[in-house]
Amino acid sequence: MGTDNKYAALNEMQRRAVFQTEGPVLILAGAGSGKTRVLTHRMAYLIEEIMVPSYHILAITFTNKAAKEMKERVEKLIGDPAREAWISTFHSACIRILRRHCSLLGYTDGFTIYDPEDQKNVIRRLLREMNINEKMFTPRSVLGAISHAKDELVTPSRYDEIAKGDLFKEKVAVLYHRYQKALLENQAMDFDDIIAKTVALFEQNPEILEYYQEKFRYIMVDEYQDTNTAQYRLIRLLANKYENLCVVGDDDQSIYRFRGANIRNILDFEKDYQDACVIRLEENYRSTQTILDAANAVIAHNVGRKSKTLWTQNETGDPIRVYEAYNEEEEANYVAEQIIQKVSGKTRRYIDMAILFRTNAQSRALEERMIMANIPYRLYGGTPFYQRMEIKDILCYLRLIANDKDYVAAERILNVPKRGIGTVTVEKLRSFAVEQSYGITEAIEQSVLSEELRRASKKLSPVGELFTAFRGQAQDVSLTEFIPLIMEKVGYKDYLREEDPERYEDRIQNLDEFVNRAAEYEETAPEPSLGGFLEELALVAAIDSFEEGADAVSMMTLHSAKGLEFPVVFMTGMEDGIFPGYMSLTSGDEEDIEEERRLCYVGITRAQKELYMTYAKIRRVHGLEQISKVSQFMREIPMDLLEEEVGKMEQKEEGPVRKFVKTPEVHFQNRYVGKNVAPPVSQPGGPGEGFAPGDLVTHRKFGLGTVKEVQSVNADYQVKVNFVKVGEKTLFAKLAGIKKV
Ligand code: ATP
Ligand code: MG
Repeated sequence: MGTDNKYAALNEMQRRAVFQTEGPVLILAGAGSGKTRVLTHRMAYLIEEIMVPSYHILAITFTNKAAKEMKERVEKLIGDPAREAWISTFHSACIRILRRHCSLLGYTDGFTIYDPEDQKNVIRRLLREMNINEKMFTPRSVLGAISHAKDELVTPSRYDEIAKGDLFKEKVAVLYHRYQKALLENQAMDFDDIIAKTVALFEQNPEILEYYQEKFRYIMVDEYQDTNTAQYRLIRLLANKYENLCVVGDDDQSIYRFRGANIRNILDFEKDYQDACVIRLEENYRSTQTILDAANAVIAHNVGRKSKTLWTQNETGDPIRVYEAYNEEEEANYVAEQIIQKVSGKTRRYIDMAILFRTNAQSRALEERMIMANIPYRLYGGTPFYQRMEIKDILCYLRLIANDKDYVAAERILNVPKRGIGTVTVEKLRSFAVEQSYGITEAIEQSVLSEELRRASKKLSPVGELFTAFRGQAQDVSLTEFIPLIMEKVGYKDYLREEDPERYEDRIQNLDEFVNRAAEYEETAPEPSLGGFLEELALVAAIDSFEEGADAVSMMTLHSAKGLEFPVVFMTGMEDGIFPGYMSLTSGDEEDIEEERRLCYVGITRAQKELYMTYAKIRRVHGLEQISKVSQFMREIPMDLLEEEVGKMEQKEEGPVRKFVKTPEVHFQNRYVGKNVAPPVSQPGGPGEGFAPGDLVTHRKFGLGTVKEVQSVNADYQVKVNFVKVGEKTLFAKLAGIKKV
């Protein structure tokens, strides 16, 4: 067999997994041990050496990004011959199959895929028809129950049985029947249907199933630990004939339980396939020894796992850098400073670095800081903060309150939440206002006088009154009170809940974060005002995201980071209540904490060379400052793997005395004393005294420069310096170690 170098670049166990092409294979291994690499090489091997035509291969991954990467890697290995292999996510593979055969399921002209909003509209209509009060049975809870049933492949008739005796479920059962009927009438499927319908297609049509069994003689599934019941069933059906099924996964990385993923699918593989070949990979190629030790230490706290030992030949590497920030803004500053230092020192490029966080709302402070520091970034799996729907909506309310002639803002929110004001009316109102040089509220007040608007004026006038009232209040209350007040008066939260139940929690978190931003503004601005706030935001809100493939820092939630790797990783918001999240801390279910811990393990193991963990001592929640406590996961990491960076707060005090964590665990607090603590950087006399415009200064890397502006921020000063070599830079004086000459 002409196995060339590419298989020599695998270890013995990996090679075994690649060469074991026939029969069921389970590769159970920890992070960074080359599972995905085995899959790509296995595909290459099948095509090149076993001469399997690529159209006989199906490889499933979890995200589009992962699928794209896998495709690229295989093509890099063997080029064109890989072209006809299906390398995709569960959903795109199923959509492809359904498009061809949906007529067998009663779909005559193809099908539309409904998004959550469409789904909700259907449910609301059905609730009305059945005279059910939406307050009692919210579309959200009904859809949640239906979605869960579909993940578990529970059909409407099965659901009838399960529901007996449970009032809520009995109603859901009726709705589930009608909902499916309605979808079919509309020739539509929802997201969960895509998998469930494919399973149904195969189960009801043995000849079709056989066609695909013949087609996909070799099946591979990455991240198998995150498959749910429907996905599991689908794979079982397809692999049933040839049983050339290779699944890879890591039970320690199962992080989608909340979406019905069932860790048992991987743990029971040996039972499902009696003659399965089980391969364990134990060598980690991705991370330094230190990073790996930290990951192992954290995950060891989970009980009921298949114990694995991961080791590496990689160097010990740097300690994990821990940084206690004063608050989230300062945390973001720190991250930005580290990034700038690495890039300007030419040790890393932006693309080598990733910032991870638990929830999307946390991206706000980080994004803002990146924008201000001119650091290109890409936000994965989410919309940049200021482009999120709910943020834009509320911003537009504020804009229209501040400026009655902000027609663009008016267009966005006149009918948000829905007030029965159509786009035609909005357009007419706008042109009427522009013609008469009225503001929007004025135009509404005068609308009875307009031929065109007279009929709509009844619907419009409450909106006019609303804005007049808002303007009256704007003077009297603080922004942190005003924003929630607007949301309450217009029923914005109810609207969001109805709009998209699945995203509701996320959106509320974003809005809370927006209120936090307002609080921060009010604390720092000399004369806070609505106009001033909007002006400040306009600077960051207008930035477009950076183009694909550009050299940029990656920002994403821990969930979206699965399977990826980066030389430098920042895990931010390492606080109890953030990560592990508040819900998992208070639910009383140890399983919830364990799932969060697996997520932490995923996060740590993304890092190849350098890992940072940061947390804020004070974080704003609903606009109020709260003292937070360092994450319990960080406390599970042995102290000799950590090195604490001295923050600005510490430098104010005498000497590097640690006060790492506010916990009763004294041994932990004291363990930094005298250890690895960096000496305090330059010591200017006191706040603001160190630098003044016109001062000549030096910086380690940028060299000589002249101070242009000085601004005091927290315990440091932000100085704008015009450097001879590199031009203007805005830096934190102490942090950057700027010295006067
Ligand atoms: P995860 O659980 O995070 O998905 P994984 O097990 O899929 O991780 P891979 O992403 O396949 O791991 O591999 C991790 C890194 O180690 C990659 O950069 C890969 O190229 C490298 N690697 C894997 N095996 C070897 C090997 N035998 N020799 C050199 N490098 C390897
Ligand atoms: Mg992988």
